[in-house]
Amino acid sequence: MSDLPIDIKISKVSKSKIDQVDFNNLTFGKVFTDHMFVCDFKDGAWQTPEIIPYQPLTIAPSARVFHYGQAVFEGMKAFKDTNDEIWMFRPEDNFHRINKSSHRMAIPEFPKDYFFEGLTTLLQLEKDWIKKGKGNSLYIRPFVIATEEAISASPSNSYKFIIICSPAQSYYAGEVKVLFAEEYSRAADGGVGYAKAAGNYGAQFYPTSLAHAKGYQQIIWTDASTHEYLEEAGTMNIFFRVGDALLTAPTNDRILDGITRKSVIQLAKDNGIAVEVRRVKVSEIKEAARKGDLKEIFGAGTAAVINPIAGFEHGGEKFDLPKQEHSYASLFKEQLTNIQYNISEDPHGWRYKV
Ligand SMILES: *Cc1c(COP(=O)(O)O)cnc(C)c1O
Repeated sequence: MSDLPIDIKISKVSKSKIDQVDFNNLTFGKVFTDHMFVCDFKDGAWQTPEIIPYQPLTIAPSARVFHYGQAVFEGMKAFKDTNDEIWMFRPEDNFHRINKSSHRMAIPEFPKDYFFEGLTTLLQLEKDWIKKGKGNSLYIRPFVIATEEAISASPSNSYKFIIICSPAQSYYAGEVKVLFAEEYSRAADGGVGYAKAAGNYGAQFYPTSLAHAKGYQQIIWTDASTHEYLEEAGTMNIFFRVGDALLTAPTNDRILDGITRKSVIQLAKDNGIAVEVRRVKVSEIKEAARKGDLKEIFGAGTAAVINPIAGFEHGGEKFDLPKQEHSYASLFKEQLTNIQYNISEDPHGWRYKV
C-alpha cells in the first residue's frame, strides 16, 4: 500500500432523510443512514473506494453470492460522548476478523487503510445519526459479497466490500429464555463456525424458528458431535456463573471469537472474578441449576452487549434462573458501556477515537 491518503470519491445526498427518523422508536436494523461506503475488487485489486447515497445495488442474478453464499460480514458500533466526540470499541479486532472470515471463504483480504479511512470518513459524514446517551449507538455493518457473473462453483473474481450504518437503541427487550441444542448444529469441526460467514446465520433460522414455537427466543448451540458441551448462542458468546466463578467455552473452529467475549473475560479478571475458560458440560450446568449453584447465564455480543438469560430447557426439563441482586451481567454491561461511551477510564486501550 502507498502512504498517500486514500482518495475516496464522495457523492453526498442532496437532502438527508434524518428528519423522517424517530430515534426514540427504532427497530434494530431497519433504518439506514444517508450514505454507504463501497469498494469493488476486480482485475486482481481493490479499486478506488467511494461513498455514495445509500441505495439498492444492481447485481446480475448469476452473481456467485446468490448461488454459493460467498459472503462475510462484521458488526460494530459507534458511540457519541457528552462532548459530541465519536468513539468505536476495538475496531482493529473487527478489521482482523473480517479478513480472517474472508480468508476462510476464499475472498481477497481488504486493505487496512481502506477499511479505516472508509469507516472514519463515513462516520464523520453520518455523525448526526449517532445520538448521545447510553443505549444509543450507530450499528455498523461492513460486508463483502461475491459479484462475478458466473454460476460455476468456484471462487469469484470480483467482489464488493460495503459498509452500511443503522441507528440503534438497546437490542433486546424482555426476558430471554433459551433452548440447549440437542438435534441441530450451528457449526462443525473444520467448518466455518469461527468465521462471520453469512450462511452461518441462514442455517440457524429454521432451528431457531422451532425454538420460537416452543416459547424460546434463542438456541444455545452445543458441540456437533456429542451435543454434550455448550458452545455459543449463534449471535453471542455465552457465559455461565456457577457460584462466584464465570465459565465460558474456549474458542475453536466452531466458535466465533467474539470481541465482547474477550472483553468480558478481561473485565472479570480486573474485578477479581475467577474465570474458567474451558469446555462446559450441559450436565454440569443442569446439575448446578438443580443445586441452586447456577446463578446466571448471559450472552455477550456487540449488538446486545450483555444479554441476561432467564431460563433454559434441555431434555424436556425446564430451569428458571434466580433473579440476582448484583449480577455479573449488569456489572459487565455497566463497565463495558462506560468505556464505550467515554465515561470511565480505558485501562486496556479499547476505545478508538473517530
Ligand atoms: C458476531 C458474533 C458473536 C459476537 O461477537 P462480537 O465481536 O462480540 O460482536 C458471537 N457469535 C457469533 C456466531 C457471531 O457471529
